[in-house]
Amino acid sequence: MITVEQALEKVLSCVEVLNREEKPILECLGQVLDEDVYSPLDVPPLDNAAMDGYAVQAESTRGVTQSSPAVLDVIGEVSAGAISQQEVRPGTAIRIMTGAPIPQGADSVVQFEDTDEALRPQRPISQIGILKEVKKGLNVRRAGEDISRGQLVLEKGTPLRPQEIGVLASIGKATAAVIRRPVVAILATGDELVEIDQPLPQGKIHNSNSFSLAAQVARYGGIPKILGIARDREEELEAKIRQALDSDLLLTSGGVSTGQYDLVKDVLAKQGEISFWTVRMKPGKPLAFGLINGDRKRVPHLGLPGNPVSSMVTFELFARPAILKMMGQRNLSKTMIRAISESRIENTDGRRVFARAVVRREGDHYYARTRGPQGSGILTSMTQANGLAIVPEDVAAVEEGEIIQVLMLDWREE
Ligand code: AMP
Ligand code: MG
Repeated sequence: MITVEQALEKVLSCVEVLNREEKPILECLGQVLDEDVYSPLDVPPLDNAAMDGYAVQAESTRGVTQSSPAVLDVIGEVSAGAISQQEVRPGTAIRIMTGAPIPQGADSVVQFEDTDEALRPQRPISQIGILKEVKKGLNVRRAGEDISRGQLVLEKGTPLRPQEIGVLASIGKATAAVIRRPVVAILATGDELVEIDQPLPQGKIHNSNSFSLAAQVARYGGIPKILGIARDREEELEAKIRQALDSDLLLTSGGVSTGQYDLVKDVLAKQGEISFWTVRMKPGKPLAFGLINGDRKRVPHLGLPGNPVSSMVTFELFARPAILKMMGQRNLSKTMIRAISESRIENTDGRRVFARAVVRREGDHYYARTRGPQGSGILTSMTQANGLAIVPEDVAAVEEGEIIQVLMLDWREE
């Protein structure tokens, strides 16, 4: 038996960061930037108003109070997107909207609330009372205060979230170079499987693994390519695997347990190399890993167990980090939480147990509780869980009230 870490290390040593692609920024969400981005301009490009109000010289407001306001002549108005042609001098003001460039001569903006505008019904307004002394620079956003021209804005290797997409847009960058998404081929194996849109004859079950796996692939940024079902026959398995040769990763489910693996082993040994592992974990003990001779290069193959829960859990532990590595992500780990266990979770045979659990927060503490049957065929138990509570290999049981580590599947508080 090998440990979870040994298995992961072996898988990661066989996958590489993919090449780059250039595309519209909105399509890059979740991908990793593959270029250093410098700004060709100042953001904002000009000094501008941070508030609606009056652009003035601070000097004109010196010593004013509510009871002895300064009355200034209003010489114009400027809204966002326009440039005022007038110049503010001592004793004058220009009505200004948020985002509008500061007119020549002005150095501050007095917000409406600090003027008597509300008491002056005539429009356009010709005079305005300033009720409060302002400091030079008040309510002025400086040119380049967010980004200055020539600045390194985003570094190569940065994962693009909505805020990074927004920053790219703010400097007028319409496309970006990012590491491309891996195409992940997904193949279900088993004589008992029937497609989801077909009637179910006696003795058969629907192929659910291809769908949970494809959804997991998509969630982490890969492009799933469902290859359908291969019966437990050599020719069929061979033919299906041929359709995966142009992919970046092949995931199969089923056919790796002791009673079954001969077929997968024979077929894959012909097309590349494969090893069968027994990983010290539960669920998901059997796992196959190999390299298939592909069109351009060798395609890594992860043979996941057939049981629906095992296939999902082994995906999280081994396929997810492989996909993230191919996408150029540096952080491959998932959030772990220390919670107080509200259940007794046993470890009967010295493997690392990943128990489906619900984590919730109460006050300053997190609590984890297992729910319902834990069999690796009970897929609905995954729908009730938001994490996997871990009992280490050398611990016989985690008792109620003890601290337990939980690998969070979703980070969403219930
Ligand atoms: P195997 O590893 O092929 O022996 O499969 C183990 C268990 O998982 C069996 O009960 C299979 O019927 C079930 N199984 C295998 N593949 C799938 C699949 N694609 N969808 C749902 N269940 C599956
Ligand atoms: Mg099978």
